[in-house]
Amino acid sequence: MFTTAIAGSLPKPAWLAETEKLWPQWKAQGDALLQVKRDATLLWIKAQEDAGIDVIGDGEQARQHFVHGFVEHVEGIDFVNKVTMGIRNNRYDAQVPQVIAPLRLKGRVHAFEAQLARAHTQKKLKFTLPGPMTIVDTVADRFYGDKVKMAMAFAELLNQEALALQADGVDIIQFDEPAFNVYMDEAADWGVKALERAAQGLTCTTAVHICYGYGIEANNNWKKTLGDEWRQYEKVFPALAKSSIQQVSLECFHSHVPMEMMKLLEGKDVMVGVIDVASTEIETPEEIADTIGRALQFVPKHRLIACTNCGLAPMTRDVAERKLKALAEGARLASQRYA
Ligand code: ZN
Repeated sequence: MFTTAIAGSLPKPAWLAETEKLWPQWKAQGDALLQVKRDATLLWIKAQEDAGIDVIGDGEQARQHFVHGFVEHVEGIDFVNKVTMGIRNNRYDAQVPQVIAPLRLKGRVHAFEAQLARAHTQKKLKFTLPGPMTIVDTVADRFYGDKVKMAMAFAELLNQEALALQADGVDIIQFDEPAFNVYMDEAADWGVKALERAAQGLTCTTAVHICYGYGIEANNNWKKTLGDEWRQYEKVFPALAKSSIQQVSLECFHSHVPMEMMKLLEGKDVMVGVIDVASTEIETPEEIADTIGRALQFVPKHRLIACTNCGLAPMTRDVAERKLKALAEGARLASQRYA
């Protein structure tokens, strides 16, 4: 009854890249790198299927980072001379590339891993792309001088790649917009519009993932400052409810997001985060079923998808594999309990 899916990223094996890092260095180069990216993608497809996950992803094994993996393929960006910039409203510093000229795609961005994944699973395939607002927050602008204009330029490029991914046979295209939880007014004002521009013309299922970030120290410390009730979703959910985007992913388990926020997503499929990505403790099926049960007060059964709070990239492989299994078992238990 309850479909299971992951937010997107999975840990990279030690033979592919440095482990437990957000911007890991690759362990190989050239053709050898392509080969290990391929191997890691296949490994995680198998692991997701073995765990019993319904919607399969490529685990983002072929990209170094969820934003820069896309930006690397864009002309008009200086990737050699990166600068240090505070991102997510200065929550943490990152080495970011600079936008120095009009933006254009150099060619396909994710054809290799999308086509590979499509050829190796019969299950529904979800593919993730960064959202325009989050990209804008993860590059330094030396050219546009206007956030919205630059976001729309990125949205056009995202749209080109999204349409090509759809042609590759991807069933669900998800845009990741953690920046929506940081710049709430701007997200409601133009972020959702830019997102819709990125999804324009898609006939496959469209989704957006909005979270409180990976389980890294800077994010965990930030969460401690957000108080007892996290109401960031309150501004952007009504704008999303009115949008053309069909699925919305939100952080739930171990968060302070009030459950009733889900009420604001009427008419949307809701990917409820039932797996904590900031803790190595493995959720029990009972805990997961309980979270699903509480969400059912606000989301109709047929619209609830059990999901992880965010990507699992910075975790160990072992923990991620066990969390995938827990997710499937918990959803199965919930299906029996709430049938
Ligand atoms: Zn996330």
